[in-house]
Amino acid sequence: MNASASDNPIELPASALVMLIGAAGSGKSAFASRHLPAEAIISSDQLRARMGRDEADQDVNDAVFEDLRRRVDDRLGGALVTVVDATNTDWMRRSELIHLARRHGRPTVALVFDLPLEVCLARNRARARTVAPSVIRRQVDALRRDRDRLDLEGFSAVWVLSSTDQVDRLRLRLKGGPVARASV
Ligand code: ATP
Ligand code: MG
Repeated sequence: MNASASDNPIELPASALVMLIGAAGSGKSAFASRHLPAEAIISSDQLRARMGRDEADQDVNDAVFEDLRRRVDDRLGGALVTVVDATNTDWMRRSELIHLARRHGRPTVALVFDLPLEVCLARNRARARTVAPSVIRRQVDALRRDRDRLDLEGFSAVWVLSSTDQVDRLRLRLKGGPVARASV
């Protein structure tokens, strides 16, 4: 589904696993902090900062994703909405998370930040923590390759955001929660 900038908010089931998918610099964390309750967000960068030297430390990746899956498992087990803030451009990572959600019988929602490479590169350059441009290029390529087949991976709903305008105008409604609106 293409999330058009309509007046209708995207509805997130209260116990859903919400996977943010997008290259570094595509604005996942900014979006999550604007729209979603902090306690629901499980961020690979935050876990890296806690478990490694800083939020860019890739040496602790295995431990970080193990911990991330455990936290996701705990929240889904409690029927709590759970947002995974990681690039999730690797289909293996996505499939592990979908598998977890299935085990708990929870719906899975993909929010895809399919923004132009130039936007991701420019935003990455402008922030404190930068990722190598070649890594971002690879992530954008992987996303383009998989984007139209995400529904076949087992998501209950796939929302593709393909412009900065779409992202900035998007509204979410957590079922049983308030409507959050972007303020830009
Ligand atoms: P990573 O995967 O590396 O964590 P990310 O997808 O979480 O990247 P953010 O850190 O959220 O990306 O955003 C990258 C930069 O772009 C930040 O400096 C952020 O402030 C800026 N940015 C994010 N969203 C917007 C937006 N809607 N409008 C303007 N600037 C934005
Ligand atoms: Mg981030």
